[in-house]
Amino acid sequence: MPLITLTPKGLFCEKANVFIDPWRKVNKALITHAHSDHARPGMGSYLSHNDSVDILKHRLGIGIKIQGVGYNKPITINGVEITFFPAGHIIGSAQIRLKDNKECWVISGDYNISEDELIEAFEPVKCDTFVTESTFGLPVFQWPETSEVISDINTWWQQNQNNNQPSIISAYSLGKAQRVIQNIDHSIGPVFTHGAVENVNKIFRANGIPLKKTERLYKNDKDIVNKSLIVCPPGASDSMWIRNIKNHKFAFASGWMALRGARRRRNTEKGFVLSDHADWNALNEAVKLTEASQVYVTHGYTETFSKWLNENNIESSVLKTLFEGESLEPKNVLV
Ligand SMILES: [Zn+2]
Ligand SMILES: [Zn+2]
Repeated sequence: MPLITLTPKGLFCEKANVFIDPWRKVNKALITHAHSDHARPGMGSYLSHNDSVDILKHRLGIGIKIQGVGYNKPITINGVEITFFPAGHIIGSAQIRLKDNKECWVISGDYNISEDELIEAFEPVKCDTFVTESTFGLPVFQWPETSEVISDINTWWQQNQNNNQPSIISAYSLGKAQRVIQNIDHSIGPVFTHGAVENVNKIFRANGIPLKKTERLYKNDKDIVNKSLIVCPPGASDSMWIRNIKNHKFAFASGWMALRGARRRRNTEKGFVLSDHADWNALNEAVKLTEASQVYVTHGYTETFSKWLNENNIESSVLKTLFEGESLEPKNVLV
């Protein structure tokens, strides 16, 4: 029996009796990060990185039984050493390594190998078997430099401000929103948020994470709003909340914006290619750095990426999760 197996409830380590990012109720869940396709409600207990604890309580219920752990701090359960390593995806995101005296596995969760100020940088971890995500596992996904994208956002905001128009940018409330907020030029004007974003910001600030200043947008002076950048979650993009912000300009920040079709479907006037995930080259780079002899591909363009790895002499197969396929559509906001 291998150290990790796939069961109908999710990836399972029988020896330690733990599941990794399970999608059905189990006793003990190890959670790579707090996005909803990885962290489901109803588990008997949770183990996550310290920075995910309060976010998970906020999202799954204040009463959940949860323990936090730091990066690079091994915990041993019944001869299985379990260690969380930075995944670079969002604050508190982790790759989880499980190893015993025979096997060593790393479950990547979602990851991003480019560096960002607030997020602990992705750490390559050597292993025998690597379970990788592949949200953007097609060669067409090649991210521009973050600094270039941010500079484009600043320019867009400044132009709208010059025309006396508020700028609204849609960014997923956990992860992308903070990436935008931390990197943009706050000297241009005030930065407001939708409540869903501000709730996450508050939790991070309460945990000592030095996120730059934002303020929840209530009914504010029009002159101030017209100078501002407003960060809202994708779910709010067709809402009354947005429609009430008169004469605004609207943009999406997402890896999917690399696809013209996604921009069109979203009817977006402006799309900034900004992702919390590895692009095609970064996925390949990450796989190589693990030196794994076996790679399982999950979440995203699994077939394509797995086939590519096999053609390049890395033994690989697809690992189907409950959420397979969902992440292929731009309407899914976990990017
Ligand atoms: Zn994620
Ligand atoms: Zn995910």
